[in-house]
Amino acid sequence: MRPDSFEFLKALSAAPSPSGYEQPAQKVFREYIQNFVDEVQTDVLGNSYGVIRGQGEGPPTVMLAGHCDEVGFMVQYIDENGFLYFSSIGGVDEQLLPGKRVCVHTQKGPLMGVIGRKPIHLIDPKDREKVVKMHNQFIDIGAQNKKEAKKSVRIGDPITFVGGLDKLMGDRVVSRGFDDKVGSFIVAEVLRRIGEKKNRPRCIVYGVSTVQEELGLRGATTSAYQIQPDVGIAIEVGHASDYPEVDKKRVGEHKLGAGPIVARGANINPLVYELLMKAAKKTKTPVQVLGAPRATGTDASVIQLSRKGVATGLVSIPLRYMHTPTEVLSLKDLEAACQLLVGFIYELTEKMSFIPA
Ligand SMILES: [Zn+2]
Repeated sequence: MRPDSFEFLKALSAAPSPSGYEQPAQKVFREYIQNFVDEVQTDVLGNSYGVIRGQGEGPPTVMLAGHCDEVGFMVQYIDENGFLYFSSIGGVDEQLLPGKRVCVHTQKGPLMGVIGRKPIHLIDPKDREKVVKMHNQFIDIGAQNKKEAKKSVRIGDPITFVGGLDKLMGDRVVSRGFDDKVGSFIVAEVLRRIGEKKNRPRCIVYGVSTVQEELGLRGATTSAYQIQPDVGIAIEVGHASDYPEVDKKRVGEHKLGAGPIVARGANINPLVYELLMKAAKKTKTPVQVLGAPRATGTDASVIQLSRKGVATGLVSIPLRYMHTPTEVLSLKDLEAACQLLVGFIYELTEKMSFIPA
């Protein structure tokens, strides 16, 4: 990966962006893309758009969507002793919380905290197997009491796990929030790769870093309405099945480093799928296929149903340990996804129809 791109991925991973509080990540996104696009736009929900006008004014208009929001937590209640009680923003497994370091994002800046847990010596043997409910877990920020805690913390402050991007062996990396900051990353990288080319695509490209996906695909709903695309591709993370305990019979066979996952099924326009496969072949990009019989629960679900309907595709990066603070993926798959999507965009022409025959 190009060093500048890697630094961008690192900055995006480090920026806090729980759903509804995405602007630190959006700022990183906008600053990066501004050099490669014709126009940068924003909207009232907090979505960020980079626009590349093709040869003339299209059609078709293509929308790429990667959501920059990550799962996290929110301060609900501060007790007399200054401990913070919290709920989750998006789906987080309460089993993995005790003993973790977290960052409370306050008006006065980031504040370190830990999710406390009574020591094993003091837990009755019969309770050791039990999971403590999230509403009974608490964050210790080191405050003496409620008054001191309230000097910095306000109800509704967002909280993230601590930890940005680190390298593992080979081309594998770990971070919190790769779901779906890598979607935003790929959108930005595709804009860059197209923006740096001499020949413009024969379509208008909107690259959107969407918000509030984890809360019900909310940013993609409004941004698709705004753009009115002919073609929409969601860029997401997908469950890898190459580690213990994940059942290939249930999720399909998807490996890290074997290329992006291209979905097929009712949420996907068959001609968009075929064009993605054609682009994969032409650009010699390895891809894996996911059978998706229902709405995919990604931005692709709402993009497809926007206005009169949009020809939709879904490209996912294989990811291990989704929605934990230690999501793992292969950088090779990010590069491959960019290559595939650039190839796809250059296949689009004004004459193309996506009405299934
Ligand atoms: Zn996601």
